[in-house]
Amino acid sequence: MYEDLKIICWPDPRLRKKSKPVEEFTGELKALAERMLVLMREAKGVGLAGPQVGMNIRMIVINTTGQAGDDRVYVNPVLSEAEGEEEEEEGCLSLPGINTQVVRSKAIRMTAVNLEGKALDQKEAGYIARIWQHECDHLNGTMLTDRMGPTAQIGNRRILKDLEERYAAEHPQAAVKRKKR
Ligand code: ZN
Repeated sequence: MYEDLKIICWPDPRLRKKSKPVEEFTGELKALAERMLVLMREAKGVGLAGPQVGMNIRMIVINTTGQAGDDRVYVNPVLSEAEGEEEEEEGCLSLPGINTQVVRSKAIRMTAVNLEGKALDQKEAGYIARIWQHECDHLNGTMLTDRMGPTAQIGNRRILKDLEERYAAEHPQAAVKRKKR
């Protein structure tokens, strides 16, 4: 059902939309999560959010080890109780070629539901907390390009321009508004 889905790249406008909460916990939702996990694994990523496959719904998948048993799916995630700050390098499957330092909260709590609609309440610090924050950003249309400092903006200008040109070539009808930076 979702075989044709692929990971979309900046500046696709779907990455900029605020995604809608999931209201129905269907087999379709499960199939979408499965497909997202496959795409994430193929791309050697550790996290993927709905909008990154062009689906503007509030669902994220993560796996930090590559083992099938470590797949985690979060639906309608909400972050709270952020503690501390930490700067680390991050990349994004929708911004190939870009790695940039990003300041995130060190520890954070997440409440969400699973694919059956059952409540989840977890607290993580470090790597997983960082991935949660990165993926939840996607659900609100926020990307690494918004989180990087002015020096990184300048340093990555060429890569961003190449991505814009690639998007324009693949979507000749779309008038891509160039973001001022
Ligand atoms: Zn990302």
